Amino acid sequence: MPVTVRFAPSPTGNIHIGNARTALFNWLFAMKNSGNFVQRFDDTDVARSKQEYADAILYDLHWLGIFQDATEYQSRRFDIYEDAVARLKRDGLLYACYETAEELDLRRKVRRTRGLPPVYGREALRLTHAQISEYEADGRKPHWRFLLPNFRDEPFETERTEVEWTDLVRGEETIDLASLSDPILIREDGTYLYTLPSVTDDIDMGITHVIRGDDHVTNTAVQIALFRALGAEPPEFGHHNLLTTSTGEALSKRTGALSIASLRESGLEPMTVSSLAVLTGTSENVVATSSMSELAKAFDLSTASKSAAKFDPEDLKTLNRDLLRQMPFSESRDRLSALGILGERAEDFWLAVRGNLDRLADAVDWWRIVEHGPQTPVALSDDDSVFVRDAIDMLPPEPWDRDTFKVWIGSVKERSGRKGKPLYEPIRLALTGLASGPELADLLPLLGPAGIQARRP
Ligand code: GLU
Repeated sequence: MPVTVRFAPSPTGNIHIGNARTALFNWLFAMKNSGNFVQRFDDTDVARSKQEYADAILYDLHWLGIFQDATEYQSRRFDIYEDAVARLKRDGLLYACYETAEELDLRRKVRRTRGLPPVYGREALRLTHAQISEYEADGRKPHWRFLLPNFRDEPFETERTEVEWTDLVRGEETIDLASLSDPILIREDGTYLYTLPSVTDDIDMGITHVIRGDDHVTNTAVQIALFRALGAEPPEFGHHNLLTTSTGEALSKRTGALSIASLRESGLEPMTVSSLAVLTGTSENVVATSSMSELAKAFDLSTASKSAAKFDPEDLKTLNRDLLRQMPFSESRDRLSALGILGERAEDFWLAVRGNLDRLADAVDWWRIVEHGPQTPVALSDDDSVFVRDAIDMLPPEPWDRDTFKVWIGSVKERSGRKGKPLYEPIRLALTGLASGPELADLLPLLGPAGIQARRP
């Protein structure tokens, strides 16, 4: 069976960098195993789910470099869930319950005072036909619970029933089914909770590996039991640590903080976001990798730690600068050209400025400086103006290359007796209007003799 993974968000908001971590873990796992990536929208909550969110999620994932082999919507698959429900009912594994939330709450309190674990006592299984008819006559609608296989003959006599799995991230995991309440699969209003559609789809879509956040660890035992109840072997599971901010705050789709859309709009490179999303909270160094295949080399599920993956959003800026500093012209060419940076100087220009950019789009500012001179002219002192004029008079004849600056500044230094900052800074200010920026050795051939004469103070 080919490796098949899925990323299964509910389309109820924009995805953030923490959701991207889950998507990327699945994507990289599929990549490394020549597997398939299924995009599944968990949109059974039709009131909160929106197509525009699903579209935005697809857009974000494509921007990150994730391309799905199939895209499925749970809201179009209710027939399949109904079949699963019929099968569970037929096998006596799904039973109707009529308790209200208040009644359940009261029962839990009573159990606690008796020193019993606050799990559901399966009282609904004892209902007589007459009682059920009475509830129905009162207009009560049932919710439906899955009967967990945690007993031998008598559902009221549960016994320790360990469900074990070897988690791809966390290693050996064990959960005792007797410590859990029979989970509700269908609400009173007939809507599904996440469990049954998810497991049914995992079976139907041939999912071999479920890779998701560790907030789902406790759901896994129930899901494994449900896979078996539906006649299927459970897939493998891997639960990765969740991304949190450096102060430990969880990320939420609702707040929009650190959404992929906002990171894209702030001008970050997709590989910056992906590198940080994947490598934070693993034993690998958090470095900017330049492609998915490079990131895949550094990715290994078992290197993710068990504690929260804390990160500082400021790190995104540093990684982005690192990524741009290494970016070859072949990769930036089209985007530069869309920004109006084109022509025979474009490549040398890129190589000159790429080490000085926070965002690729900032190259435009440097292009303007190279093309048209300082954006705000700098007033040099009289001394410095004379010095720069003299220096310009000493420029060597063409052709110019990267070494021209060294030869030139050598003679300027000798003639003026200046060194260090007083030697370099006035020249840089006259040429660029700024006190720092790309190497003058790279800028000089870009400006050419005419460009430099035009900047003569
Ligand atoms: N829709 C669920 C979620 O977003 C999917 C969980 C899973 O991967 O099984 O949490």
